Amino acid sequence: MKYLIKILLLVKNFLFPSRCALCETLLTETAEIREGLCEKCMVSLVTVQGEKCKLCGKPLISERDICLSCRNQGAKACDRLWVIFPYTGVYRKLLHAYKFAKNLALAVFFAGKALEVIAENPVLQDAVIVPVPPRPGKIKETGWDQVDYLAKHILKQSCSAVVQRCLKRRRSKAQKQLDRKGRMENMKGRVYLREKPPKTVLVIDDVITTGSTLEVCSDILKKGGAEKVYGLCLFYD
Ligand SMILES: [Zn+2]
Ligand SMILES: [Zn+2]
Repeated sequence: MKYLIKILLLVKNFLFPSRCALCETLLTETAEIREGLCEKCMVSLVTVQGEKCKLCGKPLISERDICLSCRNQGAKACDRLWVIFPYTGVYRKLLHAYKFAKNLALAVFFAGKALEVIAENPVLQDAVIVPVPPRPGKIKETGWDQVDYLAKHILKQSCSAVVQRCLKRRRSKAQKQLDRKGRMENMKGRVYLREKPPKTVLVIDDVITTGSTLEVCSDILKKGGAEKVYGLCLFYD
């Protein structure tokens, strides 16, 4: 079966050659084609290293355990967040290739990275994955939901992962132009539960900017009965 998939992948690549999402060289190896990146680019992408904030997952500079920004923000509904890549330079290009240019192979790469984080952190072993819900109309406009697609690939690559799409979103103003407070207000009451949430949740999203979306989702999940809510974002701004 594995052999057959490999052949199909090579045939598909012969008819529609894949290029690396970052440097655009033609991909020839099956592992490269599967993940949408050439070997060189793949190894050049480094996940967040060193000491990280125990709440937001960002690298610490001179702080200890918890970063200054988290200290200033006080208690949050999200118990802990993990982030994988900074949203800068080549990493920004990587997310754009996935989110806007729809390089779907990158979901395989991202799902692998997400599963590494889950495997490294025992508290996440029993967490049920809940994708951040897309705004209504998004799928109609863009044809897909990149976060849900990521969740599907996490499921595909793991025999123990569980995904529950228990959050939904009502129509609200676009978030882009708003600051954190504005975003929180905009989101409140727009996100709701369509079923009882799991006891331990891992909310997943592609990029975290102000953190308001994750915070509103975590709050709704906790009010609905979730005991622990963690977050995992591919990129942090
Ligand atoms: Zn490349
Ligand atoms: Zn922090």
